[in-house]
Amino acid sequence: MTEVCTVNHIDHVGVAVNDIEAALAFFKKVFDVPDAEIVLMEDQGVRATLIEVGQTRLELLEPTSPESGVGRFIGRRGEGLHHLAFNVTDISGKLQTLKTLGVDLIDQSPREGLSGTIAFVHPRSVFGILTELVESVPE
Ligand code: ZN
Repeated sequence: MTEVCTVNHIDHVGVAVNDIEAALAFFKKVFDVPDAEIVLMEDQGVRATLIEVGQTRLELLEPTSPESGVGRFIGRRGEGLHHLAFNVTDISGKLQTLKTLGVDLIDQSPREGLSGTIAFVHPRSVFGILTELVESVPE
């Protein structure tokens, strides 16, 4: 465990959308991103896809219901930027570091996500930004 939560790079930026097929088609047509698989993640209440945008990625998130987390987000704020994901090494250790530093965590322990092993940090601790830690899982 270290005293700071060093970040490797921005892993992806999460974007909440109403229609993931339409959003993916838009990014392919306008920004020339490669095709990507849309995955249902029932436990998180979303259909999601990671798209390669230049040197980083966007994670498109379509809620499966208005009551899901992303559904409520869109209900309150509309479509748009949802979260920022930092790629880290040793996510379990980094979560302990953040706890020690007094940062509020949504996930007390890491779990499996679309982009690897993930955990969310509460936006009230990060200037209103819902922040996700990601540890890449080797292919
Ligand atoms: Zn994410």
